[in-house]
Amino acid sequence: MSDYPHMFTPLDLGFTSLPNRVLMGSMHTGLEETGDWNRVAEFYAERARGGVGLMVTGGMAPNPEGGVFPGAAGLYTPQDIANHRVVTDRVHDAGGKIAMQVLHAGRYAYSPHCVAPSAIKSPISPFPPSELDEAGIEKQISDIATAASRARDAGYDGVEIMGSEGYFLNQFLVTHTNRRTDRWGGTYENRMRLPLEVMARVRASVGSDFIVIYRLSMIDLIPNGSTWEEVVTLARAMEAAGASILNTGIGWHEARIPTIATSVPRRAFTWVTKKLMGEVSIPVITSNRINTPEVAEQVLAEGCADMVSMARPFLADPHFVAKAAKGKSATIAPCIACNQACLDHTFSGKLTSCLVNPRACHETELEITPALSRKTVAVIGAGPAGLSAAITAAQRGHATTLFDKSDKIGGQLNMARRVPGKEEFDGLVEWFATMVDESGVDLRLGTRPTVADLASFDEVIIATGVTPRDPAIAGQEHPSVLSYIEVLAGNAPVGDNVVIIGAGGIGFDVAEYLVTDDSPTEDLDAWKSEWGVADPATARGGLSPNGPQPEAPVRQITLLQRKPEKPGRHLGKTTGWIHRASLRAKGVKMMGGVRYDAIEEDGLRVTLEEGRGESRLLPADSIILCAGQLSERSLADELLAEGRQPHVIGGADVAAELDAKRAINQGVRLASSL
Ligand code: NAP
Ligand code: SF4
Repeated sequence: MSDYPHMFTPLDLGFTSLPNRVLMGSMHTGLEETGDWNRVAEFYAERARGGVGLMVTGGMAPNPEGGVFPGAAGLYTPQDIANHRVVTDRVHDAGGKIAMQVLHAGRYAYSPHCVAPSAIKSPISPFPPSELDEAGIEKQISDIATAASRARDAGYDGVEIMGSEGYFLNQFLVTHTNRRTDRWGGTYENRMRLPLEVMARVRASVGSDFIVIYRLSMIDLIPNGSTWEEVVTLARAMEAAGASILNTGIGWHEARIPTIATSVPRRAFTWVTKKLMGEVSIPVITSNRINTPEVAEQVLAEGCADMVSMARPFLADPHFVAKAAKGKSATIAPCIACNQACLDHTFSGKLTSCLVNPRACHETELEITPALSRKTVAVIGAGPAGLSAAITAAQRGHATTLFDKSDKIGGQLNMARRVPGKEEFDGLVEWFATMVDESGVDLRLGTRPTVADLASFDEVIIATGVTPRDPAIAGQEHPSVLSYIEVLAGNAPVGDNVVIIGAGGIGFDVAEYLVTDDSPTEDLDAWKSEWGVADPATARGGLSPNGPQPEAPVRQITLLQRKPEKPGRHLGKTTGWIHRASLRAKGVKMMGGVRYDAIEEDGLRVTLEEGRGESRLLPADSIILCAGQLSERSLADELLAEGRQPHVIGGADVAAELDAKRAINQGVRLASSL
């Protein structure tokens, strides 16, 4: 019997059946916009081979005005149908099923030609939308229905109509964005007319034996969002209008509450979907922060939904479902919900990939094939770069030895995992340990190999990481001064009044670590209270009337940087605001434009750019140095001096702006080429 009996129960939809209860949720990868449909097809086929029950494509525009940006992929010409056919054929050959998401962005379209129920600009777009007239509304409905029937012509098994996350259909549902006084606005009956008309026309255009999913916003997390009564009314009406499945949407894109970031507790919103169970008779899917088979199984076993949707976990590991089915869950590469290579890329106009799996969306270009000749490979440093290189080299058949001076693997990941809200890093280090074992890497911990020890290896990979930069501030030998390494190792006493020098990723992490006692990521009620999330049955849109109620800060913290700009500007595109908001809510003071004059008995003497050049003492009983890092290359330099040609990767190669994404990518790519 399977370890996950609920997950592996087929789902009968009458005219078709899904082999398991796992949906790969829609993700915008950017692959379609490359025009290389072979690459798109390979991305989905790889995931079909991995056994997922049903996949949903990234959002496809039904017309130019509905595209998320000018030139966004869609399905509106015969050539589009031929392109999509490449994908559906490849997926079906691989034994999978795939539905196309029809996404009309409405006022979220990044274009001066965007349209919406009312001419109200979104806070996340510079473009005010045009208000649609009656003919314009009819055109949008008709275009969405036509896109659905073209999806059927292109060989898809179904469509998902995107009705959540604050996109076009969602915009009609709430008064936040719909101020119309005609039959498309006003009462709830009028506001839901457009989404329902879309569903009815889509069903009529595709016939009865075609999957039509409606993604329904179950908690908007915006002012004047839907009530729970309205959600249930819409869900029932959608069933009556022809939906075969309801999928869950959580929060609008403009919501100021995180919904999928790593600091959001696992399965943080399955309680919302559970409220809908029993209100409709069609299957209901739940979503958000479900990233392991154990969590998926638990959600299903508790009756929170009939099916679970996971999206990013399929970037991290396309074979998630197949591995779970074989009882090999420990080998599933975990999605740590960092957004660094997926959503941060999407929102920067770059192709999506995955921090943990650089092959994601690069399936046709980055291939891990058996080595032509077996070599001996030494990797020095078991941080993310070294681990990735060693595992990939061993998987390819090279005899690989991995050395680290420490008594454990993980390098800097071991610091990240101690930060409240970054608990997912635990799973990443555990996965690396499993894969070291599985791939047959010879692991030598507590070992610093010398140049002589490395003489017999065919290839030497230096992944020795970084050392903290010395900011050379007068008086820094004072006992109140600590390095971030001492602090995050948890073995240095830190006072109640703290100044942090350096506001990069690590300065922010240290501030979070020192200001928080118990991580709200480990306690759903505490997290909901911190961000002001309420039951939509009692508070419209799920926004608590009391607003965010964070725990009292454990310490007083001041976070400093020299650059005369807002600290945290260079954090992740989609997550930086969460770190800034979280620290602000806990009273952390952040200052840019600071000159460090000296560390004195009672604190740090600084000159502030805004302070007319006057020197001032920031009282502190602990001063923590988070001033960036330098490459640790001493072994590489010794090897070069001996005439060897080591490969240098990760922080040892370039320390500036180092993160695990670059380290892992570099490790995998190097080892795939040896
Ligand atoms: P960093 O991002 O390069 O930041 C270093 C900080 O030190 C900056 O605030 C910099 O600002 C300051 N600094 C640089 N030279 C200094 C000097 N000589 N004296 C005093 N201050 C100095 O490095 P990090 O914070 O150590 O983080 C390393 C990398 O880990 C990051 O780049 C990041 O990619 C990754 N990381 C990411 C996250 C995340 O949330 N995504 C979290 C942790 C780590 P000024 O020069 O303006 O003073
Ligand atoms: Fe998950 Fe991070 Fe990979 Fe995105 S980049 S899929 S969030 S691990």
